[in-house]
Amino acid sequence: MPMKTVSILGIPVACLTMQQVLAWVEKRIEAGKPAHIVTANAEIIYRASRKPELGKLLRQADLITADGSGVVWAGHKLNSPLPERVTGVDLTQQLLAWAAEKSWRVYFLGAKPEVVEKAVLRTLSKHPQLQISGYHHGYFAKQEIDQVVSNIHKAKPHLLFVALGAPRQEYFIQEHLEQLAASVAIGVGGTFDVLAGTAQRAPLWMQQRGLEWLYRLCRQPRRLGRMLALPCFVGTVLRQRKASQGLDKT
Ligand code: UDP
Repeated sequence: MPMKTVSILGIPVACLTMQQVLAWVEKRIEAGKPAHIVTANAEIIYRASRKPELGKLLRQADLITADGSGVVWAGHKLNSPLPERVTGVDLTQQLLAWAAEKSWRVYFLGAKPEVVEKAVLRTLSKHPQLQISGYHHGYFAKQEIDQVVSNIHKAKPHLLFVALGAPRQEYFIQEHLEQLAASVAIGVGGTFDVLAGTAQRAPLWMQQRGLEWLYRLCRQPRRLGRMLALPCFVGTVLRQRKASQGLDKT
């Protein structure tokens, strides 16, 4: 059965809860067919709406989840509600617990060398039986890509978490998906920084009120330029809503 999606600025976001995404991942791992998951926040969706090449790349992914309350808000405004947010960091944490239980091999690619190492160590102390079949930092040169891909191929992970920042991680996954020999590859942004404890998530009350972006902005003011995409995202969603209401009346 085709998956139900909601088009947010032309990007098909899956209408799935976290539990449904986990079930989808399990099926793909059992099928052994490579899959690419994008955890799309408002910023990347807005950028994709402005850059056709990025939009095309995202539409080719096998599954796009709503990474953040901005995307869930957009679904609501467009009369196509999304059940809940499925963020990269939450999905990673849930999948790591599942992987430990189901003996799936996992691989971490991305973040600074000391960060990915700490993320691996902290994850193993939480899930001692987890099989981490390898890890590599995300600051490799172009000429090292083949070696990085070959190392992942040899490790044959069921789950590959790629934290190179968006959209670099999406380009990397799509370009190398077949050679990576991973069952499911997921772009997870700053997740290893959270797993390593070098970045903190917003308090729950801020997450629940859709204010995680404000927390990140206060902690990392250098994100201000990037976050200017958020008001543009809101404006574009409201215009899409107006346009669809106009169509409904005709
Ligand atoms: N990163 C990386 N290689 C690079 C640039 C960034 O591995 O060349 C990592 C960076 O260390 C961080 C993550 O990518 O761990 C990006 O985090 P951010 O919160 O900016 O994610 P985004 O919002 O871009 O998804």
